[in-house]
Amino acid sequence: MGKELKRDLQTDVLVVGAGPAGCMAAMDLARQGINVLVADRSQFPREKVCGDGLLEDSLQILESVGLGSEVQQKAHPIRSILFVAPNGTECELEGNFLTLPRKDLDALLLEEACKAGAQFLGGITVSEPLVQNGVCAGALGLDEEGHEINITARLVLLATGANARIMRVFGVLQNRNHSAIGVRGYFRLTETIDESSMVVVYDKRILPGYGWMFPLGQGIFNVGCGIFLEGRKRMPRFGQNLTGFYKHIQPLARYLQMAEQIAPIRAAAMRTGFQGARACAPGILVLGEALGLTFPFIGEGISSALESGRIAASVALEALEKNDFTSRILARYEVDLRKRLDGRQQGYQAAQRLFRFKSFANLLIGKAARNPDVRKVARQIVLGERDPLDVFSLRGMLRVFLLRRKA
Ligand SMILES: Cc1cc2nc3c(=O)[nH]c(=O)nc-3n(C[C@H](O)[C@H](O)[C@H](O)COP(=O)(O)OP(=O)(O)OC[C@H]3O[C@@H](n4cnc5c(N)ncnc54)[C@H](O)[C@@H]3O)c2cc1C
Repeated sequence: MGKELKRDLQTDVLVVGAGPAGCMAAMDLARQGINVLVADRSQFPREKVCGDGLLEDSLQILESVGLGSEVQQKAHPIRSILFVAPNGTECELEGNFLTLPRKDLDALLLEEACKAGAQFLGGITVSEPLVQNGVCAGALGLDEEGHEINITARLVLLATGANARIMRVFGVLQNRNHSAIGVRGYFRLTETIDESSMVVVYDKRILPGYGWMFPLGQGIFNVGCGIFLEGRKRMPRFGQNLTGFYKHIQPLARYLQMAEQIAPIRAAAMRTGFQGARACAPGILVLGEALGLTFPFIGEGISSALESGRIAASVALEALEKNDFTSRILARYEVDLRKRLDGRQQGYQAAQRLFRFKSFANLLIGKAARNPDVRKVARQIVLGERDPLDVFSLRGMLRVFLLRRKA
């Protein structure tokens, strides 16, 4: 995918990080004929620690850029999510979801960006900004042999995920602490179990957080757990770096008794709640998880990363056209993003706080299991059609708990 490496490069837009956020911005810009260079410290395809789950909001964005059918072809279809409360009560929500290993999803997005004309440099670790008159004008990086590379750009899009160090050197970091930790591994199950349903388990030891088991097809499952750190006094004792989590969480332990582990358990940090970094600085826009866009409570971040890529590209186009890379133009990026994402970010933050209490989780999942109207509301939230604050606020909860089953 890469082109011949030169020590000094020049581009209109430098995108640092080839995850969903960076690739989406690069694709949109390249499709508009803009000169874009994407640099990533990894060669692609590369692994990314993730649950590999795509909810409907991600699919909608992928469809909007013409990638819906290609992703659907490669992905595994999911027809429902089974939620398991701390007391074991189960509630199933139907919907059209997908799973696709990030190795494949991110490679597909990068390939599309390159098809549109973006240039990819893999194995380049960006180390610091190039600054001219107080404005970021590109970046310095190191290739895999340790040679320095100098990339001059009119605008830099920082899409480096939860990597706080790089945000600090670019001067956009506000909080170095991450908000959650996630671990996942891949397992092959020998016995036949339903491969059209994702399982989400609210074990009382990981609240607020959950364990999951997401089918990828052909007996392979992504199994993991995510633990949110806000207000948490101690971590669960699931072995060093949580690597033994799946032996402690039911029903995962039961399902995995006869399973073969086919990839090691790996951990990654998450940055959530649209906080912890500045969205822009002169010559810089910050995208995706770098900007804390992964949703609290559900840990879903692919859709918001894609969305930030699209909005960043539209703001970048305006800045390039006006040749103005100050906050006068770039500030629109945060305004537009907040309009799109603030409601869900705040709603899921509230949900995360309430799910510290196992009694609340039992009550809500129990209510949804018994009452189709509550299930309908929950389904609309999961599908991104309804604001989570419609449930996870005082008024919302009163409404939900007063909903009676229709006779
Ligand atoms: C355990 C776990 C499970 C998750 N499950 C899901 C899920 O099922 N569904 C979902 O929607 N979300 C999930 N998420 C969240 C999702 O993974 C992130 O929100 C998403 O990857 C953010 O995309 P991004 O493009 O912002 O960053 P990333 O995907 O992290 O991409 C950042 C890129 O930047 C590169 N980079 C970093 N530093 C540098 C540097 N200095 N120089 C060059 N390149 C650099 C990295 O190599 C990487 O390729 C999960 C997260 C975790 C940790």
